[in-house]
Amino acid sequence: MKKIASFSVDHNKIGKGMYISRVDGDVITYDVRMKKPNANDYIPYAAAHTIEHLFATFARNSDVQDKVIYVGPMGCRTGFYFLTRDEVSKTEAIKTVLDAMRFISDFSGEIPGTSSEECGNYLEHDLNGAKLIAEDMAGVLENWTEDMLEYKK
Ligand SMILES: [Zn+2]
Repeated sequence: MKKIASFSVDHNKIGKGMYISRVDGDVITYDVRMKKPNANDYIPYAAAHTIEHLFATFARNSDVQDKVIYVGPMGCRTGFYFLTRDEVSKTEAIKTVLDAMRFISDFSGEIPGTSSEECGNYLEHDLNGAKLIAEDMAGVLENWTEDMLEYKK
């Protein structure tokens, strides 16, 4: 089988940030990289799970809600995938993720979708852990611009 595009980027050269990993027709896949790859610091499962619930809830209530395809964690636990239609400008995509990180870092109360009916592992959540990572990521994305979205090969 051929090597897929996302394995062709040298992960040792990637830092925290937001990058375009692929474009398929009118769908853009953004990598929201919250941890530096292979640096012995990964998003713990429970925090990733909470970020997923809050990030997806925010994105699907945002100005671009109808153009969000998917929000979900990377298996390597260094970040999240964020997929949108290309009608969402790159600047809007960055702003949506930045606003989502601020929403998570300020969040208090009950995490959405955390009953056993709504979630496949409803007890495995960590709001405080999620908030710390989101706060860190909001700092990273605060001054992120379109020209920073490209992975350096
Ligand atoms: Zn869940």
